[in-house]
Amino acid sequence: MSFSSNAKAEVCRTRFEGECCELAELSAILHTAGLISISDGVFSLRIDTENAAVARRAFTLIKQLFGLHTKTQMHSNPLKRNHIYSLIIEDGAQLVALDTRLAGEEGFSFGADASFLKKRCCKIAFLRGAFLGGGSVTNPEKRYHMEFVCGQKEFASGLLNIIKDLGISAKMIQRGASYVVYLKEGDPIITLLTMIGAHSSILNIENIRIMKSVRNSVNRKVNCETGNLSKTVNASLKQREDIEYIRTRMGLDKLPRGLREAAEARINNPDASLKELADAIGTSKSGVNHRLRKLGSIADGLRTAGR
Ligand SMILES: [Zn+2]
Repeated sequence: MSFSSNAKAEVCRTRFEGECCELAELSAILHTAGLISISDGVFSLRIDTENAAVARRAFTLIKQLFGLHTKTQMHSNPLKRNHIYSLIIEDGAQLVALDTRLAGEEGFSFGADASFLKKRCCKIAFLRGAFLGGGSVTNPEKRYHMEFVCGQKEFASGLLNIIKDLGISAKMIQRGASYVVYLKEGDPIITLLTMIGAHSSILNIENIRIMKSVRNSVNRKVNCETGNLSKTVNASLKQREDIEYIRTRMGLDKLPRGLREAAEARINNPDASLKELADAIGTSKSGVNHRLRKLGSIADGLRTAGR
């Protein structure tokens, strides 16, 4: 199962909070996954979904709110190698359409009707329904992306406002004939999924985030250590050049004892750190550093004099 279908199955297990929220959730499911049909003067509603848990959830909502038993059908979709579950509401379809604001006095209404979504609980329930009917969330291991595909612009902008009302940042784009409300970053996606009840999906996201940040800091550390190492290597190379220059121009035995020891230690231990050199000749790190610099300036002096 994809990350998205897992999250939906999980959201479908959230408890119903009350009739106001149930209606809001069903309204959003109908607006995102519903089809209206009028044939031979008979008005009916249909909900199509690839997710069995969503089909069961919608079935339960319709039964609890309207006492209706919807007809259910399942057919396989060989192209996508999955099944489509359809719920068909015939008797009572008009009442369902009116109560869920799919239809108003003036005909069908495709917006997200804010008048029955005044309470925060209902807004969240509406979001839950929109996710179940038309939402998807990408596996955060790949990237952070959550979206709601809406057939109608009015609905998409209504949904966008509801998401923003709940303090979550989202955007809207047109994609072909659809309007897509989307969330791009980890934080807003986590907040939204938490609100609608996808708790263990969030735990997964949090784990992935931790893994990603550990991985990043390990990479940073490795980069940083390699940086220090190449600095040491470059410094050692310059020191050995200086020492070899002194050896050819005047001989190391002309150097004071301390400097000669440092020079020999460096030549014999090209990869050693300052600390290791210090230990080798029984002095401090700053002592070695001082002597190597002194060797550098002697070599520079010889070079200037040699020109
Ligand atoms: Zn409510």
